[in-house]
Amino acid sequence: MPSVMELYQFLPKTNCKKCGESTCMAFAVAILSRKKKISECPPILETSFKKQKDKLESLLLPTAGAEETGMMVHHELCTGCGNCVVACPVDVANDPKGAAVGCAPTNEKVIFKVVDGKVLASNIKECRRFGKNRVLCYACIDPCPTGAIEFV
Ligand code: SF4
Ligand code: SF4
Ligand code: SF4
Repeated sequence: MPSVMELYQFLPKTNCKKCGESTCMAFAVAILSRKKKISECPPILETSFKKQKDKLESLLLPTAGAEETGMMVHHELCTGCGNCVVACPVDVANDPKGAAVGCAPTNEKVIFKVVDGKVLASNIKECRRFGKNRVLCYACIDPCPTGAIEFV
């Protein structure tokens, strides 16, 4: 995970505000937290900034597939054990007849479901890490035996 300063050094540093942020530093914070994309800075799309743009993209590559919460599910590591399904408090609250008692979820409101031996994440806005009042929940990460769930 890069730092804000690492990202900032490859931005144009003109504070032109064309990205909708008041400074390039604020834009660096926004791309790091996935609120903005690099392409929302018009100057960096110019050919003269190609090297800087390539560098920014390579720095952000580890987070490219992440959900809005920063969640990445590494499907190649998932064994489909279902531990995350029964551990997620949102799944338990939304599916008292299924996930809460260790069975497969029975409705569409849950975050995790195991389908064909691999976990699928959906309803990501329900995650306790999402939005202004987010909390750093680790309930799905801790019981995963293979490290298949990561927050970046
Ligand atoms: S558009 Fe690009 S150069 Fe202008 S303030 Fe935003 S990040 Fe900086
Ligand atoms: S971080 Fe917490 S709320 Fe979010 S998916 Fe994992 S267990 Fe569920
Ligand atoms: S706990 Fe880990 S290995 Fe088990 S289903 Fe969830 S992501 Fe896959």
